[in-house]
Amino acid sequence: MDRIVTKEDYLQSLREQKHLVYYAGEKVEDVTTHPAFKPHINCAAMTYEMALKAEFEDLATATSHLTGQKINRFTHIHQSVEDLIKKVQLLRAIAHETGSCFQRCVGWDALNATYMTTYEIDEKHGTDYHRRFCEYLKYIQGSNKMVVGGMTDTKGDRSLPPSKQPDPDVFTHVVEHRADGIVIRGNKAHQTGAVNSHEVLIMPTQAMRPEDKDFAVACAVPLGAPGVTQIFGRQTNDERRLTSEMDIGNPEFGLVGGESLLIFEDVFVPNERVFMCGEVEFSGILVERFATLHRQNYGGCKGGVSDVIVGACALATEMQGTAGAGHIKEKLAEMMHLTETLYSGSIACSAMGQRTASGAFYPDPLLANCTKHNVTRHVYEIARLAHDVAGGILATMPFEKDLRHPQIGKYVEKYLAGVQGVSTENRLRILRLIENMTGGTALVESMHGAGSPQTQKVMYGRYGKLDMKKKMAKNLARIAD
Ligand code: SF4
Ligand code: FE
Repeated sequence: MDRIVTKEDYLQSLREQKHLVYYAGEKVEDVTTHPAFKPHINCAAMTYEMALKAEFEDLATATSHLTGQKINRFTHIHQSVEDLIKKVQLLRAIAHETGSCFQRCVGWDALNATYMTTYEIDEKHGTDYHRRFCEYLKYIQGSNKMVVGGMTDTKGDRSLPPSKQPDPDVFTHVVEHRADGIVIRGNKAHQTGAVNSHEVLIMPTQAMRPEDKDFAVACAVPLGAPGVTQIFGRQTNDERRLTSEMDIGNPEFGLVGGESLLIFEDVFVPNERVFMCGEVEFSGILVERFATLHRQNYGGCKGGVSDVIVGACALATEMQGTAGAGHIKEKLAEMMHLTETLYSGSIACSAMGQRTASGAFYPDPLLANCTKHNVTRHVYEIARLAHDVAGGILATMPFEKDLRHPQIGKYVEKYLAGVQGVSTENRLRILRLIENMTGGTALVESMHGAGSPQTQKVMYGRYGKLDMKKKMAKNLARIAD
C-alpha cells in the first residue's frame, strides 16, 4: 500500500505486514480480528480518521517542511511554538473521542527527537545520519505509516552498565558491522502500540560510556522484518475482552495503550536506516529529547482522558441520585481543577518551547518534566475522587452475564436500579467505564509511562537552577557570601 489514508487502509496495511506477535502463549494470525487487540487498533485508527474530519483538519494534519505536502500531524516535525501547542490540543481532542491511549505519539516523539539529534551528531562528527533520517522521514510522511518509539531496554542487572551485563542482550546492541549495514540483537520493553504499528524507531535507552559503544545505536526496523518477535503484555481485566462487551467499560477503544516486549534476534539494518552507531556522547541527549517530547504530551492525553472520567462520574451521580449533594459537586470541581492543571502544564512547556539547531522546535524540558510528574500524582487523585464519588458498587457489580440471565437477570435489574427513568444497564455501563478507566493498568501507565517519577526528579537537578535560587535567598537574607 503506497499511502494509508482511511481506517480501512490502516487495517489492511496491518494484515499485509505479517509481523510475529504472541498473545497468551499463542501466535496471532491476524491482529486486526483478535479481540485482545481490536480496541487498541480502533484507538490508533482514530489518528487516521480525525485527519479526515474537517473540524479537526487544522490540528490533525500539517504541511511537511521537507516536501510541502499535506501530512498527518503524527509524522510532522514541529516547526514552531504553535506546532507544539497544536500537538497538545490534538492529543486532548483524540482522548475525548477514545477515552484511551492512541499510541501513535510515541513514534512521533521518536521522529522529532531523532531529527534534532542526528543533525547535531553530523555537525560534530561529519556523519551522514541527518540526510538518511530525512529520507526515512519522507518515507514515513508519504506512506503515513505508524511508528513505535523503541526506547526502554529491559536492562537486566541495573547496577551494571550494558557492556558488563552477563547477558548483553538485555540492552539492544550491534553484534555485527557489515559494509552495507549492521546486525542488531536485544529487546525493547513496554512498546505501546507496537503490535499495530509498521515500524520501530530504535533509540538507546540511557546515556552510554565509551565502552558501551555498541549499545549506542539508533535505527529504524520494519516490524515485519525477519528476527523481530513481539510478546504482548497482560493488562488488568484483559479476559473481559474475550467474554463480554459491557464489562470492558470502553468496548470500542479499551482503556490503555497495549504494550509488548519487542525482541530483535540478529536483525539486519541497512546503512540507510542507521541514524546513530557508536556516538556515545549523543545517547543521553537523544534519550532526554525523546523523554521531554513525550512528557510534554501527558497533560494533553491524560487531560482528555480525565475529562471523560469527570463526565462519567457526573453521569453516575445523576443516575444514583447523589448529584445534588454539596460534597459531590465539590469533588467534581476538584477533579476538574486537577485536569486543567495537567493540561496547563502541557500548554506551558509548549508555549516556552525553543528552536533547536536542526530547526525543529522543542518544549521547555523543566516544565515538560514537571507536567509528567504531576500526572503521576494528579491522575491517582482523580481516580481516588472518582472511586469516592461513584461508590463501593464500582468494586462489586455483577457480570454482564448475570444481567442477561433468564433467572437472576431480574434481580440485577431490580436491586441495582438507581433513579427512576434510568435503566440499570446504563447505570452499570457508566460505572464499568469508571472502574476500568481508573483501574490497574491505566494508573500504572500514568506513573511509569514516559518515564518513572524519579527520572523527572533528575531533571530538576539538571534544569532547576538551584544555584541561582540559593543566590536569590542569600541576597534577600543579606548574606554576603
Ligand atoms: Fe500518546 Fe498519551 Fe498514549 Fe503516550 S500515553 S502514547 S502520549 S496517548
Ligand atoms: Fe505512554
